[in-house]
Amino acid sequence: MSVYDRDNIFAKILRGEVPSFKVHEDDHTLAFLDIMPRTLGHTLVIPKAPARNLLDAPSDALSRTILAVQRVAKAAKIAFAADGVTLLQFSEQASGQVVFHLHFHVLPRYDGIPLLPPQTNMESNETLVPRAAKLRAAIANLGV
Ligand code: AMP
Repeated sequence: MSVYDRDNIFAKILRGEVPSFKVHEDDHTLAFLDIMPRTLGHTLVIPKAPARNLLDAPSDALSRTILAVQRVAKAAKIAFAADGVTLLQFSEQASGQVVFHLHFHVLPRYDGIPLLPPQTNMESNETLVPRAAKLRAAIANLGV
């Protein structure tokens, strides 16, 4: 049976038990850098409400999350001088889902550069800290 596991890694990030490279937070959503980026600026956007994936997400959490996705996508395109943005969302193991808390991948894209395969390299803190700061600033610059 598909159930929500309250000890998944993103639930721990939401509870502050595991650190993350946060770029956006509001009452309903959180966005943070993927630590194994498939492209420069790879960011994950999640609802704070518990949801295993797209298939069980409450509609209000889902709609608030997709608005946060749009905000992150717009800012990431500016912050990292991307040419476009790809969104990915996996639901259930057969689709490629590894972490079972709903998340959208925001993947800035650069002309002629393919995505790396999932989980190719663990990025260093030294790289992710300034990258997160740059994206946070771009999100703030979007205004309300
Ligand atoms: P998936 O469930 O296939 O959509 O992928 C889960 C994503 O979460 C992968 O891209 C991982 O690199 C990423 N990930 C796993 N643990 C963390 C973490 N602690 N902080 C940020 N990203 C993570």
